[in-house]
Formats: sequence, structure tokens, C-alpha cells
Amino acid sequence: MTRYVLIGSGVAAVAAAEGIRTADPDGSITIISNDPDGYYSRPGLAYLLTGEIDTQLLFPFRAQDFKRLNIHLRQAKALRIRPAEKSVEIHPAAVVAYDRLLLATGASARPLTMPGSGLQGVNKLDHLEDARRLIQLAGNARSAVVVGGGITALELVEGLIARRVTVHYILRGKRFWSNVLDESESEMIENRLRKEGVILHPQREIVEIQAKNERVGGVRLDNGEQIKCEIVAYAIGTAPRTDLAREAGILCDRGILVNETFHTNQAHIYAAGDAAQIFDPDAKKYLLDSLWSSARAQGFIAGQNMAGRSVIYQKPVSFNVTRLTGLAITIIGAVGSAENIGPVEIVRGDSESWREVPLANVAEQETEHLSVRLMVGEKQILGAVVMGAPELSAPLLTLIRDRVDITPIRDQLLTPSASIEKILLEFQRISTGV
Ligand SMILES: Cc1cc2nc3c(=O)[nH]c(=O)nc-3n(C[C@H](O)[C@H](O)[C@H](O)COP(=O)(O)OP(=O)(O)OC[C@H]3O[C@@H](n4cnc5c(N)ncnc54)[C@H](O)[C@@H]3O)c2cc1C
Repeated sequence: MTRYVLIGSGVAAVAAAEGIRTADPDGSITIISNDPDGYYSRPGLAYLLTGEIDTQLLFPFRAQDFKRLNIHLRQAKALRIRPAEKSVEIHPAAVVAYDRLLLATGASARPLTMPGSGLQGVNKLDHLEDARRLIQLAGNARSAVVVGGGITALELVEGLIARRVTVHYILRGKRFWSNVLDESESEMIENRLRKEGVILHPQREIVEIQAKNERVGGVRLDNGEQIKCEIVAYAIGTAPRTDLAREAGILCDRGILVNETFHTNQAHIYAAGDAAQIFDPDAKKYLLDSLWSSARAQGFIAGQNMAGRSVIYQKPVSFNVTRLTGLAITIIGAVGSAENIGPVEIVRGDSESWREVPLANVAEQETEHLSVRLMVGEKQILGAVVMGAPELSAPLLTLIRDRVDITPIRDQLLTPSASIEKILLEFQRISTGV
């Protein structure tokens, strides 16, 4: 009987268990995780913070689902991998033997490093525990400072606003998420934030977090400005958790390097999800993703391969459909442009593939509440950023993922002031016959 050991209880590990069971109904599966809350939706933490959902809704699995898959859950921290002995040392003290091992250890928020970063009231949003702490802090706070670009920082802003906390939002760059969004897209988000009462501080950095009674009392910015606050919430990027792998001699770059079957350079050891850095045949380099759907797809295939199948991962088009400042936002494929600026840092709900600059013409449509940007290649749409038109998410994903020939509508899309929304929906109607 094969012994499968999976480190981590996120979506990559659970999907790996499902993958294993498609090929091996009898092997023993042990999940080792140091998260006391086990398996839950991390993207859902944003909605918990705004108060739109209850904690219960975060859990995709019930006890009977783990039972059905015959998974043994072990709450422990993996301390060391001993590849030569095929075992993992854990805390509380024990040694767990494996025949096949998966590292699905996820990624951690990059920490703040300025003086005062260790004060009570400085918070990230990685785990359910962080969300609970923020909710508690928000109950007694009047103002908060949020720092970082990208989805999680904005989710922190919105969660705190929903809890009636005044929010100062510090942006290191000139504009919001400048390495993925273009100028008008950033502006659309920023305007909506201002309308919600958020005070934006572009091109500023926090140089010190100041204490009051040993808790956060305020921050000092690089221009000398002081802001009183009781919370500092940050999302300045993520880093794959690679310590265990590096110590065991597993090849890592920024993440744990894996081939298209999720095998690391060590026999019998695999990695998937946010912790892994995977070869992207389109970009011809190893890239990082921090996307739920990618982690799920990767874990499932890794599990099948661990159980003896030979399944090759073809990196799907990276996409995210989310809601920011009340707007449905869809990002699919390669949407980078030479003008995109800012650090190459990856954040939650983000993909490095989006920063790829495709050989394309840009088709744009913009109104006060709608923004559509398409990267139009010779015959295909290569990437899209859509704000405010959720009905375009599914058709665009199909067009981009399936590399649909858009020759019949290419010229129309690129006509200045074209109604891209209408053209796409009509094309979808004709193509599907609906
Ligand atoms: C606030 C937030 C918002 C997000 N928004 C989006 C979004 O809009 N769209 C989207 O697609 N994605 C989003 N994501 C990202 C998405 O949730 C992740 O890509 C996905 O959860 C990664 O899954 P994973 O299994 O690889 O890692 P994780 O879910 O991070 O799981 C890693 C697990 O490993 C455990 N672990 C780590 N080290 C050890 C150790 N030494 N011993 C034992 N256990 C260990 C951890 O406790 C954890 O259980 C968001 C994430 C967050 C936090």
C-alpha cells in the first residue's frame, strides 16, 4: 500500500488527494497542516471581512468529504524532510514516512520591515485567523492605514470601510496596481475608492509605525506626514514557502521548481499550488501564480502523477474574476504593456502571466461604469481586462482559452469607439447558436 503524505491543507493538497484517488483507491493519504482551520476558501476571506458571508461558507469540504477520500488529517508543522529516508519530521515530535510526498505549502505575505512592524495592530490577510483578528481590531478602531497594491490590499481597504473604519490607502507607485492595470483602469478604481471615502496617498511609503500603549498608534510617511490609526494592514506581495524544500536540497528559484508533471528534482517529491514555480510553454519561462483555480488544477494533476499516472500539465490561461470597489473585474491571459510600471512583485489572486506583453493591438471601450481592454492578436484575443461587465467573463474566457479565430470581428473590435461589449456578445450568440 502506497503512503502519500501531503504537506498543507489548502486547495492544492486537497485536489491532490482527489487526484490520487482517481488512480489509487487504497493507498493511505495523510495531510499534515499547521493551519488549525484546515481547508477553507482563502479568496472568501475578503467577503468574511466585509461581513457578507459567515465563516461556515468558507469551508468547501465537510468531515464526510475527507472520510469519502479516506484522508487522515494531522494538525502539525512539518519541520524537515529527509529525502534519503523518505520521511518528514513534524512538530509535535514525530516522524512520518512516505512513499510519495507533495509540498503544497502555499505562499506567505511579505512582511513589513520598517520600525514598529511588530506592534499589535499590524496585520496581514493570509489565514482565517488573520481575518478574525482584523474583524476584532476593526471593532475598536476609528482609522486604519492599508499598504500594498493588488487585490488583497484593496480587499483590506473594502473590508475595513465596510466596518466603518476610516481608511488611508498608501500606494508606493503613482497609481493602483500599475503592473497589471493601465492608467484609466487604475483611475476607475481610485475614483470609486475616493467616493467611498478612502483617502489615497500615492507615491508614499511608511517609514515608521508609531506605538501608543504598545499598540499601533499611527504611521509616519516618507514626506514627514503623520497619520493617526489603530490598524496597519498590509499586502505588499507574497513569497512561496520554500524553506522545507531548500533545506532538503530541492531545487528552488522564487518557488519550488517543478516540471510539467509537478515532480521536483528529488525522487518521489512533488510540489503544486502557490509554493510551486511552473514552466509556462507560452512565456518559455518558469512563472508564479497565486490563483485558486491554478492551485486546484495543479494539485489534481500532481496527485494523479503521484499515484502512477502520467499526466502532463498544460498551463491554462490564467484568469481571475473578482469584485473590487463594487465592480466585477475579470483579468484573463496576457495583458501587460510596455507602459506597465512598478515592482514585479506577485500578490494574491495574481498571475505573472498577466504581465507578459503580447504581440497585439489594443481594443478599448470605456464609459463611467464600464471598461473593456482587449489584446487583439492576428487571429485571436490574447488577453482581456474587463471592469463592470460580468456577462463578458465567460465568453472572453472561452475565446482566449480555446484560441477561437476572431477574424470575422477583428476589424470591428479595433474600430475606434466600437461597442466591444455588443460585438462580443453578438459573436458569442452567432457562434453558439443561442
Ligand atoms: C485574501 C486572499 C484573497 C485571494 N483572492 C484570490 C482571488 O480573488 N482569486 C484567486 O484565484 N485567488 C485568490 N487568492 C489566492 C488563492 O487563495 C491561492 O492561490 C490558493 O489558496 C493557493 O492554494 P495552495 O493550496 O497552494 O496554498 P494555501 O491555500 O496557502 O495552503 C498552504 C497550506 O500549507 C500549510 N503549511 C505551510 N507550511 C507548512 C508546514 N511547514 N507544515 C505544515 N503545514 C504547512 C498552510 O498552513 C496551509 O494550510 C487569494 C488569497 C488570499 C489569502
